[in-house]
Amino acid sequence: MNAHDSEKVIGTLERQGYAQVDSEEAADLLLYNTCSIRDKAEQKVFHRLNDYKKLAKAGKRFAVIGCVAQQEGEKIFDRAPYVSLVAGSASYRRLPELIARVEAGETRVTGLDDRQTEETFETEFTARKNPYRAYITIIEGCDKFCAYCVVPYTRGKERSRGSESVLEEARRIAGMGYTEIQLLGQNVNSYRDPTGKKSFAELLAAVGEVPGVRRVRFMTSHPRDFTRDIVEAIDAVPALCDHVHLPVQSGSTRVLRQMAREYTRDWYLERIAWMKAAKREISISTDVIVGFPGETPEEFEQTVTLLDVVQYDAVFAFKYSPRPNTPSLVMIDSIPEAEKSKRLQILLDRQKEIQKVNYERHLGSTLEVMVEGTNTAREQVVGRSSQNKPVNFTWPHPIAPAPGSYQRVKITRTFPNSLAGEAV
Ligand code: SAH
Ligand code: SF4
Repeated sequence: MNAHDSEKVIGTLERQGYAQVDSEEAADLLLYNTCSIRDKAEQKVFHRLNDYKKLAKAGKRFAVIGCVAQQEGEKIFDRAPYVSLVAGSASYRRLPELIARVEAGETRVTGLDDRQTEETFETEFTARKNPYRAYITIIEGCDKFCAYCVVPYTRGKERSRGSESVLEEARRIAGMGYTEIQLLGQNVNSYRDPTGKKSFAELLAAVGEVPGVRRVRFMTSHPRDFTRDIVEAIDAVPALCDHVHLPVQSGSTRVLRQMAREYTRDWYLERIAWMKAAKREISISTDVIVGFPGETPEEFEQTVTLLDVVQYDAVFAFKYSPRPNTPSLVMIDSIPEAEKSKRLQILLDRQKEIQKVNYERHLGSTLEVMVEGTNTAREQVVGRSSQNKPVNFTWPHPIAPAPGSYQRVKITRTFPNSLAGEAV
């Protein structure tokens, strides 16, 4: 999402007559886009800003944007006085105006509207940097306030774009030659069309039916808002990829309650059962947090058994990381770092075994792969299956196929995280 925000910010500024340069040295103005989802993000940012001190002496100006900007606000000016602009993502549509004030000589310009805003940041001038996948944000912000999470405080309230505007962008992107579109949102399936025309599943299907669009992905879905019609849409519309990322966070209902996730283990598993019952084989991936305050060894074990039940194709697991302003800060971060690391390793080891078997299933089959590029040694073409599995393959010609093109690949070897084969 941050990468796509940068694409939109760059496009908007280019439209104003600014030009992007290749190095920090060549720039007059540096915009530093930041993330604060985990770890000591603010410390990293201040550390990096310290490195910029030398550049500041050369008369360059600095803007800090993104979630650390929103979270730390004017404190950034105090710690790094050479920064002239601090703006969170809810203020990006005002960036040209804010930057004009910096150019006019103002030194402490802020865009920190955050939860006041009802608007989304839409622009026709996105500088799309990804050669094969076009992102479209359909919903911004979050109103769910999970106990551990900083997002509702950094990205503002939940607000959706009109479905017509999304479809118009999808048609424009398809016209540019993109065949893969990824719809984005903190909780993409919490989408609520402000014009009342389409549900999330209907929008998904409509994007999948835009002429020229061959693959549609969407990230991230929240279990609370995961409805059955999403599975029905995947079954009905071939362009929708057979992959759903559905973060569970914990396999223990008690921990889920502490996290304020507003669902139970059983509720989550019911949604998984819908996907398992689909006509197409839907690949499922998830996010997990280990070591949430008070998580007992038995509760952690319930997360491990959940992996066995669901048989995910990918798991992104993180150690609990206390974040500023969040409700879980008052809970004692009771689990020692070493124990969190141990739990993380147990979980990842178990998942590796599951994936080994899951990926072996593809041996001998032929998959459609969208090319993303070549590996660093340039010996193999790299790409992804519709299920989002990385596929590396050999190619019989001296020139590799273009990023964004499709190849049929016969799978000859499998690994826990990728598939390998040859173009057919
Ligand atoms: N909206 C999505 C997740 C967005 S954040 C959802 O609700 O599922 C991406 C992932 O970062 C989360 O799924 C979670 O696993 C992880 N994460 C967020 N805050 C965290 C924290 N304080 N500590 C550790 N992991 C965290
Ligand atoms: Fe964070 Fe929860 Fe919102 Fe996801 S739903 S972004 S985890 S507050």
